[in-house]
Amino acid sequence: MSRSKRLTRVPILALLAVLPLLATSCDSEGPAAPGPGSDDCPPGQWEADSYGYRTWRHDCEPYVSDHFTVYSDGSSTAAKDTLARLAEGVFSELAAEFLIASEAELGFTPGYTYYIYAQKNMTPTVAEGYRHGLLIAAIDSRERPTQRYPIWYRYLMRHELMHVFQFSLIDCPGNGEWPHWLDIWFSEGQAVVVGGRYTRPTLQQFRTWFSDSTHIIPVRIQRRPDFPDVDRMGEYYQMFALTYAYLVDTTHGHGASVADLRNLFQYMKDGDTFHDAFQRALGISVSSLEANYLNIMEEYLATQNGAKLTTPAPATRALPSRLPTATLELKLETRGASLHPRPLEPHSGATHVTRASAPPLDPPS
Ligand SMILES: [Zn+2]
Repeated sequence: MSRSKRLTRVPILALLAVLPLLATSCDSEGPAAPGPGSDDCPPGQWEADSYGYRTWRHDCEPYVSDHFTVYSDGSSTAAKDTLARLAEGVFSELAAEFLIASEAELGFTPGYTYYIYAQKNMTPTVAEGYRHGLLIAAIDSRERPTQRYPIWYRYLMRHELMHVFQFSLIDCPGNGEWPHWLDIWFSEGQAVVVGGRYTRPTLQQFRTWFSDSTHIIPVRIQRRPDFPDVDRMGEYYQMFALTYAYLVDTTHGHGASVADLRNLFQYMKDGDTFHDAFQRALGISVSSLEANYLNIMEEYLATQNGAKLTTPAPATRALPSRLPTATLELKLETRGASLHPRPLEPHSGATHVTRASAPPLDPPS
């Protein structure tokens, strides 16, 4: 890292840097944060990154740290500071995990910043990652996330910042402009695993889940409309995570290294589609993974703790007849209403835009 990790407490220079933005945006209705539909978006920032389903008004007090500018609808300076520190810490973690030697690899140039919009009074709050930043609940929102569910909140930060890193490493021109974006099974699988919320299913759970004839091979879900049932996205997110975990498991899985993953991103940055880059970098095609998915995963899940179990792997989708609905163990919590991302249906005309969002889960109570 070439930059100091020291956080700057609302530096005057940083405020001056955004002054033109604020001077034109502070009106009686409250300013609009750099975001969809506002005329005051910094060039190349944020405005292309959202659907426009909300107006992200801010309080004219953006808080600046090394890599982030935190906007909010009224979160206190102290809460913004806490959030920025958490984000900086996660930034450093992910940079180390993905062998990022310089911020230039993420597209940082002087003056560039990731944005965070911290929602204090908005409900429901959402957690989403975008090309240049992320949305997340403010520390001092009514949810009090770092007090009530700190582990979950940290997961959300890692998940969404992983998405931002994906966008940066690919240098995706927007949020999912075809063909410059990852398949959703990969982008979300990676974010769940890196975020730290993947739980490896047992072979029996895996079989039970696929015994439901409405469930499809996760690798077929490449864009939002591919979900057969948006109400069961949480289950699919775990299947995406299983798929990603298999790919990067160097002991019993496919064995992709971090260098392979970096190559995947680089190939896409150089112009490859995801499928071309995936095959070049990981040595397996997406179509092959899809065609052999059940066999691959059956074999993978039959291998535990370094020892092959004797459970024979069915060769086809003719898996055990419908089993008791034990799939709840794969289904993540859906209680309550807070921290739900908004409904997943893309907005009209948004078929070429994908959001990267957290799974539709609630924090553990
Ligand atoms: Zn996500």
